[in-house]
Amino acid sequence: MISSELLPICIAGEWRLGGGDVYESLYPATGEPIARLKAASLADVEEAITRADHAFRTSGWAQRLPHERAAVLHRVAQLIREESESLAQKQRLDNGKPITETRNLVASAAGTFQFFAAALETLEETITPSRGAFVTMSVHEPMGVVAAITPWNSPIASEAQKLAPALAAGNAVVVKPAEVTPLMALELARICEQAGVPKGIVSVLPGKGSVIGDAITKHPLVKRVSFTGGTTTGKHIAHIAADKMMPMSLELGGKSPTMVLDDADLDHAVNGVLYGIFSSSGESCIAGSRLFVARGIYDEFLTRLAEGANALRVGDPASERTQMGPLITAKHREGIERYVDLGVSEGGRIRTGGVRPHGDGYDRGYFYKPTIIEGLGNSARISQEEIFGPVLVAMPFDSEEELIAQANDSVYALAAGVWSRDFKRAWKLGRAVQAGTVWVNTYKQFSVSTPFGGWRDSGLGREKGREGIFQYMEQKSMYWGT
Ligand code: NAD
Repeated sequence: MISSELLPICIAGEWRLGGGDVYESLYPATGEPIARLKAASLADVEEAITRADHAFRTSGWAQRLPHERAAVLHRVAQLIREESESLAQKQRLDNGKPITETRNLVASAAGTFQFFAAALETLEETITPSRGAFVTMSVHEPMGVVAAITPWNSPIASEAQKLAPALAAGNAVVVKPAEVTPLMALELARICEQAGVPKGIVSVLPGKGSVIGDAITKHPLVKRVSFTGGTTTGKHIAHIAADKMMPMSLELGGKSPTMVLDDADLDHAVNGVLYGIFSSSGESCIAGSRLFVARGIYDEFLTRLAEGANALRVGDPASERTQMGPLITAKHREGIERYVDLGVSEGGRIRTGGVRPHGDGYDRGYFYKPTIIEGLGNSARISQEEIFGPVLVAMPFDSEEELIAQANDSVYALAAGVWSRDFKRAWKLGRAVQAGTVWVNTYKQFSVSTPFGGWRDSGLGREKGREGIFQYMEQKSMYWGT
C-alpha cells in the first residue's frame, strides 16, 4: 500500500480531499488496493477552472520570458530524474506494467519536459518582408486554461506529453487522469509546483470521465482540449468541442497492421512482432495487432512466433525479468476473453495462449497469456475491432496489392510496421500504408522530436515535435503601418 490515508488532489494548487466519491487504485498483479483518494466533484471542477483562469491572468506565467519558463521545465525534468526509481515503482503499482517498462515511461516523461523546454527557446516569430506601406508579423499567444484528458495505459508519459508543451506555451492546465490510474498525474503536479510553476497553473482532477471529464471539456473557460483515449469518447469530445468552436487534438484507438515480407530478416522480425503486440500486455494504442505474413514464409514464421510468445515471461511486474505483466482490471480481462471467444466462434484457431495462466503468483492478478489467433480474414470482428490486449490476429498474404488493400481496410490508421530487407519494397509499402506512424524493420520506437498522431478514427492533430507547442497557442497576424 502506498498510503492508507485518503490522498489529496490538486485543485488549482490547493491540495485537499476532493468532494467526490472515494476511489481505490488496485495493483493489477494482486488486486490489492494500493491507494485511495477522494475524486473531484463538479464543484471542484468549477473551482479549479475558475482559479486556473485567474492564475493564467495574474500569475505572470504566460508573460515570463521563454528562457524563464524553460528553466522551470528543465527543473521539472531534473526532479523527475531524481525521483525516477520511486516514480517507476509507484507507476508499476498503479497500472501493473513491468518495472522495466515503467522506468522507460518515467525517463520518457523527463525527456519530454526537457525537449519542450529546449524547443521553447528556439521558437521564432515570423516577420514577412515589407509590403511597401506596412510590415506584417505573426505572433503566437497562449490560450488560457487548457484541458488534458488521459487514459490508463501509459500514465506519466501521456500526461507529460500534454503538460510539457501546454506549460511551455504559457497556459494553465487542468489534467483529468483515467479513473484507474490517478497517481502519476498527481505526482507530476507536485513536481511542477516544486520546480516553480506558479500555484493554480496546474490542477489534477481525478474522477469519472463521463462526469468530471465531460464537465471540464464543456466548461466555457477551457479553451482547448487535448484528449488521449478511446475513439467513442474521442467522438463525444469532438462534438462538445464543435459546439464551443474549441481547438482539440484527439489521440485515439488503433488496429495496426504489421507486414512481414518474404525477404525479411526473420529473427529480427519475430522479435519485433512479439514486442509490437505483447509489450505492455498489448494495452497500447499502437500495438501491432494485425499481422500479415507472406504466404511462402507463413508457416515457418508462425511456428517461431508462437514459440516466442510461449516463452515470454509473464508474471510479477516487480521482477526485472518479467516481459509481460497483468491486464489493467478484471473487467478488461473479461472483455479480452470475450473477444477471443468471438474469434473462435467466427472460425478462428488459437495457435497459442487463449487462456489465463494458473499457479503461484497468477491467481489473484489479472493475467492472460500472449495469444495468437489464425484462420480468420481481415474482415472478422477481431481483425477490425480494437481489443487492447495481448491478442494477435495472424493472416497470410499473396501479393503486395492485396496486402496494402487489407492493411488499409480498417477504420483505424494509427501505426504500421514493415519488415523487409529490400529498401525499395519497404519504401513502397511504407508510403502506401495509411497510418500516422510507420516503422520499418523496427516497432514501437519513439522520439519526442517526431510528431505523433493518427488518421481517420485514430485521431486528429499531432503531439510531440517542436511544433507541438503551437498546438497550445493561438496565432495572431499583426500589420504595422509605417
Ligand atoms: P477512455 O476513452 O475510456 O478514457 C480516456 C479518458 O477519457 C479517461 O480519463 C476517461 O475518464 C475520460 N473520459 C471518459 N468519458 C469521458 C467523457 N464523456 N468526457 C470526457 N472525458 C471522458 O479510454 P481508456 O479505456 O482509458 O484508454 C484506452 C483507449 O485509449 C484505447 O482505445 C487506446 O487505443 C487509446 N489510446 C490512444 C493513444 C494514442 O496516442 N492514440 C494512446 C493511449 C491510449
